[in-house]
Amino acid sequence: MTNDFDVVVAGGGPVGLMLACELRAAGVAVLVLERRARPERAVKAGSMGPLAAEAVRGLGLGAELRAAEEAANERDLRLTGKPGGPREHFGGIFLDPSLASDPDRRRVRVDQPALEDILARHARSLGVDVRREHEVTGLSQDGDGVSVDVATPAGALRLRCAYLAGCDGGRSTVRELAGFGFAGTPGSLTGRDGVVRLSEEARRALPRGFHHTERGVFVFAGFGADRVASVEFDGPPADPAAPLTLADLEASVRRVSGVEVVIDELLSGFVYTDEARQATTYRRGRVLLAGDAAHVYAPFGGQGLNVGLADAANLGWKLAAQVHGWAPAGLLDTYTAERHPVAAGLLDNTRAQAALMRPDPQSRALRELFAEFTGLEPVTRRIVDMKTGQSVRYAVGDDHPLAGTLCPDLPLDGAVAGAATTLRDRLGRGRGLLLDLAGRAEVRAGIAPWSARVGTVTARAKVDGVDAMLLRPDGCVAWVLPQGAAYRAEALTGALRTWFGEGETG
Ligand SMILES: Cc1cc2nc3c(=O)[nH]c(=O)nc-3n(C[C@H](O)[C@H](O)[C@H](O)COP(=O)(O)OP(=O)(O)OC[C@H]3O[C@@H](n4cnc5c(N)ncnc54)[C@H](O)[C@@H]3O)c2cc1C
Repeated sequence: MTNDFDVVVAGGGPVGLMLACELRAAGVAVLVLERRARPERAVKAGSMGPLAAEAVRGLGLGAELRAAEEAANERDLRLTGKPGGPREHFGGIFLDPSLASDPDRRRVRVDQPALEDILARHARSLGVDVRREHEVTGLSQDGDGVSVDVATPAGALRLRCAYLAGCDGGRSTVRELAGFGFAGTPGSLTGRDGVVRLSEEARRALPRGFHHTERGVFVFAGFGADRVASVEFDGPPADPAAPLTLADLEASVRRVSGVEVVIDELLSGFVYTDEARQATTYRRGRVLLAGDAAHVYAPFGGQGLNVGLADAANLGWKLAAQVHGWAPAGLLDTYTAERHPVAAGLLDNTRAQAALMRPDPQSRALRELFAEFTGLEPVTRRIVDMKTGQSVRYAVGDDHPLAGTLCPDLPLDGAVAGAATTLRDRLGRGRGLLLDLAGRAEVRAGIAPWSARVGTVTARAKVDGVDAMLLRPDGCVAWVLPQGAAYRAEALTGALRTWFGEGETG
């Protein structure tokens, strides 16, 4: 059987589109199957963390992201009198993001529909085939590829691909069909979150902000439109698939807030719980999972895109290398090894947030104590770094403090005469980068056999104590040459072989 595509991506949400763009930019023939007829317009994420934003900039979409953020800020300003969107919090305890290890790596105020539009346009411009009203209903894999059954308006279809990526969300069909284990803890609460229309009277009656009460939590925020949310700790929803209704949201907000608020219209919304589960591995043979398909959790603190898009950025270049045949042994399995612990941490931090939000006296006392601790700068720094992904560090076999971290989008000075450029402008599309910060010709010569897979840039950048670093296409620092240190060719060659396979001679 011949394969029709190198990779089929199930699910055209943010993670599926991001992965498809990564793969296509690296020269892979990719097809996206999306069961919805039209893009999802309901707002889930109102903002995204810095790793998600850096991954999107790595696709060359920095200007689009900036324009979307400016438009969102203008809408916020009209509605609330101030720009900026959601603030950083942990279980409703607000945190000062300027205390992060690198405060420039900040949350970006772009909501999910706007992000999906940017990614969908980019996918189209790259020539990615996105087929709507195509639902994955079956699959089977063998040594050469995966057969995928698809339900379409024109009838059933069977496709063949070398690899199938399940980016089909929290209730993933691919995860189920491919037999992935999905371990974790059941839900204990019901969260309701709606974008609504309120009368002026209702807007005055309901206090703005995040409130803990004796019945749970309610939130009244105005980001682009009025948004009302509640959390009640009386068990998971009876029917987790039932859509949110106006009456249900209104009754819950009334119960929790004690305000007899009237909601005029529910524009969009979600019911969720705090079930926290994770696929036990992200790869079974030729089937891989990314984003919510690989991990589900309560959406507390807005972290889903930060983790999901970083999954896609981690997987994209590795899968492309596998398809192109140059991936070193075990490269694809480093996807699970690196990303599984990150989502395990995410699940735990959402469990901790649920514990801090409960209305019982013990949890209230815990919350007060925790809020007091966040007055200590190192505590806040630790939490903001965790939430924004700045504490992510993969094992890359180098003990330099920067090795294994995801490098920020550094402005590069002198890389291109007369033009402002950043690291993400030069990185990605399936290629690594040697960043030479001190004009070390012997280092640049060292990567010559890998020049088809690794680019080079000589520039100045704000990185203290470093002469050169090797970056993987996802921005992970794979090797570091400290300032003034002797160059050891075997150390760089070892890192190049680990991530980029054998070099080419002659
Ligand atoms: C109320 C709420 C608020 C949130 N707020 C934030 C926030 O502020 N910040 C943040 O970062 N995250 C937030 N999140 C989380 C974020 O929305 C998710 O992490 C994100 O949507 C995950 O993207 P995904 O592409 O993995 O999955 P999804 O967005 O669920 O996309 C999956 C896609 O797959 C399609 N699909 C499903 N099954 C099939 C099939 N069998 N065949 C073909 N297609 C299929 C679906 O139609 C869908 O388009 C929030 C979530 C909720 C519910």
